[in-house]
Amino acid sequence: MKRTEFIKKAAFAGLSIGLAMEMKDLFKDWQAGKQGQRMPVLFVGHGNPMNAILQNDFSNRWRSLAKELPKPKAILVISAHWETEGTLATAMEKPRTIHDFGGFPQELFDQQYPAPGSPYWAKETKKLVKSQELILDHQWGLDHGTWSVLKPMYPEADIPVYQMSINYRLNPSQHYQLASELKALREKGILIVGSGNIVHNLRMVNWNASGAYDWAQEFDAKVYQLIQSGEHKSLIDYQSLGKAAQLSVPSNEHYIPLLYSLGLTDTKDEIRVFNKEFDLASVSMTSYVFA
Ligand code: ZN
Repeated sequence: MKRTEFIKKAAFAGLSIGLAMEMKDLFKDWQAGKQGQRMPVLFVGHGNPMNAILQNDFSNRWRSLAKELPKPKAILVISAHWETEGTLATAMEKPRTIHDFGGFPQELFDQQYPAPGSPYWAKETKKLVKSQELILDHQWGLDHGTWSVLKPMYPEADIPVYQMSINYRLNPSQHYQLASELKALREKGILIVGSGNIVHNLRMVNWNASGAYDWAQEFDAKVYQLIQSGEHKSLIDYQSLGKAAQLSVPSNEHYIPLLYSLGLTDTKDEIRVFNKEFDLASVSMTSYVFA
């Protein structure tokens, strides 16, 4: 029952005290039901920061995806653009918008994403992490791995957003383990987004290409196949996937967010792929919904 429907019915009923108590219980159930809604997990290929302000196929699909998802209580993003010593979670009330790029038009630097932070959910997240200490951070904010995607998805910026960093001391298997410790957040209405790119080789960018390099296509397809068949171990050991993997993941900060998304899934999740395309020949925009 929707809340408005509920309120209408309650008002119409001309409540006696007994009935009011009954209704109160009903309302509690309604709230509990809402709380019990299991949130999907996303992996989003963010690509070029200009996607934040361009109306293109990538950002249009982000927009339509957000309309399909249940409204989250808060959003936790693991972004390729926040690597730290130790694992940190932003815990400020008002995270700043970080313009962590260069050489783009002024219009992009003028963008703000004034979503509130979530000290509450940062603390709840800290309680869940057992494999290490999660450090609450008050310095960072929202980098473009986060806001360039969330701005098209949730333009009103009315949902609290916090980030967790990528601890560069951890190996891929430890990142995956850490992600699995956060599973309970899905049950609590938190949307978790891994934001990176499965293929990300900026040295090989080709501004004139419409397709992609063979190795880029090969690795993106291999990852797709391994995700579909649930072979997470091979995805954690991506370095053993040969030459295509080495070229696609020359440094792993854009790949690691995928391991966070995968670590948060279980076998009952359905897998949906979108934006399965390339940008500049060496960046794959391939994105996944696990729900
Ligand atoms: Zn990036």
